[in-house]
Amino acid sequence: MEVAGAVVVRITGGFAAAISRWTFPVLVSVLPHLVTTAAGVTVHPMNSADIEGDAIAIYGMAKQDPEEPPGLTRLVRALLGTRVEVAHLVGSRRAQLVRVKDEWRIYVRKGTPAPRMAFDCGHELAHWWMRRCGYHGDNIEQLCDALGAALVAPRPFFVAVRRRIDDVTEVAEAIGATQSLAVLREGETLGTPVALVGESVRVRGDEWGWPSEAEIRRVARTGHAALRKVKITDEPKRVALIAA
Ligand SMILES: [Zn+2]
Repeated sequence: MEVAGAVVVRITGGFAAAISRWTFPVLVSVLPHLVTTAAGVTVHPMNSADIEGDAIAIYGMAKQDPEEPPGLTRLVRALLGTRVEVAHLVGSRRAQLVRVKDEWRIYVRKGTPAPRMAFDCGHELAHWWMRRCGYHGDNIEQLCDALGAALVAPRPFFVAVRRRIDDVTEVAEAIGATQSLAVLREGETLGTPVALVGESVRVRGDEWGWPSEAEIRRVARTGHAALRKVKITDEPKRVALIAA
């Protein structure tokens, strides 16, 4: 499909296409998707299904129900044994995972709104998980963003909320997250083709004929018959495009 006659870029599997393969040597018991090659190298073909699976595994480790997530601060407490600390952080960091003697702690920036703080905690908890798994690849920030969002709204929880609620703002409130996270999880869990347009352009969901980034930005201003335009009201200058 084409949007506004632009050159079509095919996005295969949405988020999956953005993530490369990586070596990942451990935790076969909780990561059944690991594959050992003939060379003995364990390869983690990270895709959106793996991210969802890891999030469920983390809930299992914390003895928490991914269908009724207790909130990130309680999930952190269950796994790290420490409280999330609100602090004045140096520089522009929003949150930080820190090792203090034999404890891991997560610090989040004072003044961060609760929905954004949930994601920041999820991202740092994802860093903890990746370290535990021995993974330090180049795409670590991207993976921790994806896993962090899946920890805030695990797939079974998000899908159940979406059965009851359509409106993006109300979904965000129901899952205790930002509207941006709600839009991205829509694509990641339900496969709905979505684009989140802000400082960057992020595309999620099933394969869809998204045009170039410049064209997506133009459509975000002018609108298009095949896309529902949703203004993101909890973060400045963001628009979501959702396939109709
Ligand atoms: Zn990070």
